[in-house]
Amino acid sequence: MPTRHVSRRLAREQRKLSRMQKGSANWRKQKLRVARIHEKMKNQRKDFHHKAANGLVERYDCVCVEDLDMRGMSRSLKLGKSTMDNGFGMFHALLSYKLEDRGKRLVTVGRLFPSSQLCHECGYRFSGTKDLSVREWTCPSCGRTHDRDVNAARNIRDEGMRLALSA
Ligand SMILES: [Zn+2]
Repeated sequence: MPTRHVSRRLAREQRKLSRMQKGSANWRKQKLRVARIHEKMKNQRKDFHHKAANGLVERYDCVCVEDLDMRGMSRSLKLGKSTMDNGFGMFHALLSYKLEDRGKRLVTVGRLFPSSQLCHECGYRFSGTKDLSVREWTCPSCGRTHDRDVNAARNIRDEGMRLALSA
């Protein structure tokens, strides 16, 4: 991912640009500077995606992911365009391509699968996790305490394996 350092620099240079007189020599120079930082961020992101995908392809024969509705997600979380730009869709495509290239598989679990709501231990469905700020929760049925993301990841893996084996 683009480093925080570069993101901050971009914000700073963009602020400077906005204060300059449009069309002036300085404005043009600053515009170029902003474009270069954008390019650098894009390359860092691409590099990160390739490395992350390669790491997964090396280690696993099958990778299960959740089909996230990024547009809806960015709306509900009030995330800016920059988060969308992080290219979750691009990573998905890249990973799929790299896996297939090696005769491996990417399994996408549908967005209706309640990965965060199901207790991985007992299967109880707890709607209290619909609130995205809940990072840790205790299952009302079996009493097991879950990290939101780890529990969801386990459910996605199991559902993905189920789909892969039934296909
Ligand atoms: Zn449970």
